[in-house]
Amino acid sequence: MSRCTLCPRACGVDRDVSLGACRATSRLTLSRAALHDGEEPCLSPKGKSGAVFFSGCALGCVFCQNDAISGADPFGIEVGEERFCEILLDLQKQGAENVDLVTGDHFILQIAAALRRVRPQLSVPVIFNCSGYETVEQLRLLDGLVDIYLPDFKFASESLAARLSRAADYPRVAAAALSEMHRQVGDCVFDGEGKLLSGLLIRHLVLPNHADDSLAVLDILDALFPDKESVRLSLMRQFTPMPSCREDDLRRPLTTLEYRRVTARAEELGFLGYVQEKSSVGADAIPAFDGTGVR
Ligand code: SF4
Repeated sequence: MSRCTLCPRACGVDRDVSLGACRATSRLTLSRAALHDGEEPCLSPKGKSGAVFFSGCALGCVFCQNDAISGADPFGIEVGEERFCEILLDLQKQGAENVDLVTGDHFILQIAAALRRVRPQLSVPVIFNCSGYETVEQLRLLDGLVDIYLPDFKFASESLAARLSRAADYPRVAAAALSEMHRQVGDCVFDGEGKLLSGLLIRHLVLPNHADDSLAVLDILDALFPDKESVRLSLMRQFTPMPSCREDDLRRPLTTLEYRRVTARAEELGFLGYVQEKSSVGADAIPAFDGTGVR
């Protein structure tokens, strides 16, 4: 990684010398690895996702709900490949219904190497849970190693993506990324009890004051996936205004009316998937990023 161009940011930095937009060195760094009950029911029907949170993030949205690990000085503990494999197997031993790799785009080389080694010992699906801001070349490093892609599709508007994530190219990059993910894992396959075994589950967090952009996201997804049986869509309402976010339009929670506009349109278009209860909204849904399961 002497000139890192791994993700769409293409910073070109030597990660052993200075930090790029993801704030990550070349050494794999984790902030938490533990059972987690916040995922969609089809991913973990018993509420036991084996969530591994990486440190740093290449996208760095100003409204990030996990800014303790994605901000300017992200918390994390360095681990080698052997320890990382042990952590994944240990989660499986604890009863995890999957291995859920959360925002690891900037460590994709290390993740691919570890998965090649440990995957034969994993009997649960491997989930790559990401921002949707990945290049096709980057994702090809995971071809054959991941069962479920769980990407966001955050914005349809380039100007909104530029203001909130410094990534005007987000809509174009994410559309290509989701197509590549679907090419790799194919249409959704469930077991007899409704657990997702493989496929693409797309998340979209509806932002306050931006329901119109959410409707435009649905139009993009509608064009990308005309066969609505092929993927699943999760519309999230858990936006929590973060104290570090200075954008005036993001200082309040989402209203029920805004959320309903988006869910109604998704239903009209024929998407299958998930909507979120209001009761699941709030900062207490954010786990503690304290090295649990990593040390
Ligand atoms: S992975 Fe990090 S350093 Fe590399 S291009 Fe992306 S943001 Fe820059």
